[in-house]
Amino acid sequence: MPFTANRQFKAEPRLIASAEGIHYTTVDGRKVIDGSAGLWCVNAGHGRREIADAVSRQLMALDYAPSFQIGHPIAFDFAEKLAAIAPAGLDRVFFTNSGSESVDTALKIALAYHRAAGQSTRTRLIGRERGYHGVGFGGMSVGGMVNNRRAFATHLPGVDHISHTHDLARNAFSRGLPAHGAELADDVERLVALHGSETIAAVIVEPVAGSTGVLLPPQGYLQRLRALCDKHGILLIFDEVITGFGRLGAPFAANYFGVTPDLITSAKGITNGTIPLGAVFASRKIHDALMVGPTSQIELFHGYTYSAHPVACAAGLATLEIYRKENLLTRGAELADYWQDAMHSLRGSPNVIDIRAIGLVAGIELSSRPDAAGSRAYDVMVDCFNRGLVIRVTGDTIAMSPPLIIERSQIDEIVTILGDALKRVA
Ligand code: PMP
Repeated sequence: MPFTANRQFKAEPRLIASAEGIHYTTVDGRKVIDGSAGLWCVNAGHGRREIADAVSRQLMALDYAPSFQIGHPIAFDFAEKLAAIAPAGLDRVFFTNSGSESVDTALKIALAYHRAAGQSTRTRLIGRERGYHGVGFGGMSVGGMVNNRRAFATHLPGVDHISHTHDLARNAFSRGLPAHGAELADDVERLVALHGSETIAAVIVEPVAGSTGVLLPPQGYLQRLRALCDKHGILLIFDEVITGFGRLGAPFAANYFGVTPDLITSAKGITNGTIPLGAVFASRKIHDALMVGPTSQIELFHGYTYSAHPVACAAGLATLEIYRKENLLTRGAELADYWQDAMHSLRGSPNVIDIRAIGLVAGIELSSRPDAAGSRAYDVMVDCFNRGLVIRVTGDTIAMSPPLIIERSQIDEIVTILGDALKRVA
């Protein structure tokens, strides 16, 4: 099983049989709250009939069409509807099948763009420490999670990392965005000085780092990163695989923070987690450099057998319709204060050393046991599961991201179960 403590799992499997709304039912018939929206993807809750019906209809109408040379209208229809909710200017869409593929696609688009624009020396890529960008070679290389890199001795060449923004000494228990750390964006200048701006193609960051523990950008940090990329002709990529589709209370983090990157990667919530699909959003400038002009120029020779799979697009269209009808892409904004108060009410629980909350996502960081980093949060996760709540843990941070349909009373339930688990594990 991927990213699983496999030995422990064999001894003590956790198996789910069905799901509806914000609940799973385990194989032994217990109802548990899904506190992580699957893996940050089931934004509209489980068991949505509209999506199931759309998928089934699509399977009978057109189950597959080639994605090379021949197309199908549903892909273009979906792309247009996605472009309509994307940040202004990012209205060109390329479909993939996952977050990892979206990341590698975006990195390749950045490289191809510079070549097409006559700047073929721009080949270096910059990621950030504690970034997670999936498991492809591109995403792993720009990613900054040591454990995900250690076993695989080789990475893409020409990749650097700017420093992360996680700073407990200055920012622990911040309400809203942390006050300190905008200057960390200036690390880009260090790499420009070292390698020359004419060698750097793109910077990729998660606007809110998810898988490394819900790390919020310091106030002004993303704006500063945007300004530096502009100054040096470097493309800025936001990896919004988690933050896209309403997690922060806006369609994308780029809308939420008012900072527009050149490329956005997405997946997960695009189909409510039902059918694998990802999408890369690109600016018109990037699109035109690769798609307009003489046919002899550099093109984006790239894609997948299942790019814009009709069934995935049907699931995505039905998902977007639910998001629209139920105002789910902005529901996180309505619930944000309640959610933040609820999460911060766990301050003072045993071993809690930081709480970070924004939109409908939160990270609760615990102190680590000496010589057994990660084991404390793992124990909390197991205890929660046994008592009716699914949470995700990464290192000793508990990550919470419930379906966006969650009600206030259900947030209270989460806090009660989690608070009790923290006490029991202590
Ligand atoms: N980027 C980010 C920011 C992610 O959070 C993830 C998945 N958690 C990925 C990329 C990879 O997505 P996938 O697992 O669909 O390949």
